[in-house]
Amino acid sequence: MPNNRDSKCPLCGATLTATEILDACGEIIDPVHGVVETHCPHCQGRLEAMPVNGRVDLGFLIGDKERFDVALAMPFADLKLERPSGPPCIKLTAPGRSWEFTE
Ligand SMILES: [Zn+2]
Repeated sequence: MPNNRDSKCPLCGATLTATEILDACGEIIDPVHGVVETHCPHCQGRLEAMPVNGRVDLGFLIGDKERFDVALAMPFADLKLERPSGPPCIKLTAPGRSWEFTE
């Protein structure tokens, strides 16, 4: 795995990997910031993820989606983000893996 640092769930303290979080992601909840709903695979607690190039940020949107508060930044060296034009869509690719999220 390209990334397996000691990152812990802000809710239950279980060790998380960026891949686990991306696998748990559902729908886009804020297309402006590129935030996707997700959950901790250990405690099932609700989290929000903002994937970017080389990193997945975990945290929560603040106020009326004004900003994204990062609770945990998970480095993911080979992660590439793509935001195609058109309907909200987030495409992520990493060696051997890909994810696609829509609203
Ligand atoms: Zn948890």
